[in-house]
Amino acid sequence: MPNELLELGYSYDALEPFIDARTMEIHHTKHHQGYVDKLNKALEGTKLQDKPVEDLLKDVNNLPQDKKQAIINNGGGHANHSFFWKSLKKGTKASGEILQAIEKKFGSIDEFKEKFKEAATTLFGSGWVWLVLNEKKELEILQTKNQGSPLSENKIPVLGLDVWEHAYYLKYQNKRPEYVDAFFNVINWEQVNENFKAK
Ligand code: MN
Repeated sequence: MPNELLELGYSYDALEPFIDARTMEIHHTKHHQGYVDKLNKALEGTKLQDKPVEDLLKDVNNLPQDKKQAIINNGGGHANHSFFWKSLKKGTKASGEILQAIEKKFGSIDEFKEKFKEAATTLFGSGWVWLVLNEKKELEILQTKNQGSPLSENKIPVLGLDVWEHAYYLKYQNKRPEYVDAFFNVINWEQVNENFKAK
């Protein structure tokens, strides 16, 4: 089965004014769709298209050499965006196990946000910033370049932020720090807590 673009589960304007409807629509229907299409083209006629893309990303060193980079780029693009859409929602607050773990690791939710923002604004060029669980099941902040997936580094994503310009340019232009501040208002902490507990 080819990979598919999933519905967001909410409307394109659901995150206004923090993330605008036009950005969401283009991001989902053009950018994310583009990764899905290119991934499917690369995997056409191979058994790899029947595997969950996350499984391919966890084991990139065993991918066929002629498919490897396409899967890292477009499989990563597909998996990262699918993960990102689910972790966006207005009106939730950090609570429960994830809040306790963040406070233990970073001191407070505000100190966590400060560190996450620093990672997001210092990432040069295109990429993602993540809160992940590392091999020791400890929280850490991670940057990945381009569409790199934490799964390929043996880490479990808990929260992710797309800092490619296409994610924010229409509304925020060059002001990535403002986009990061806006993102803090639309983190779906219920989902993040689920991601954390699934460890
Ligand atoms: Mn993107």
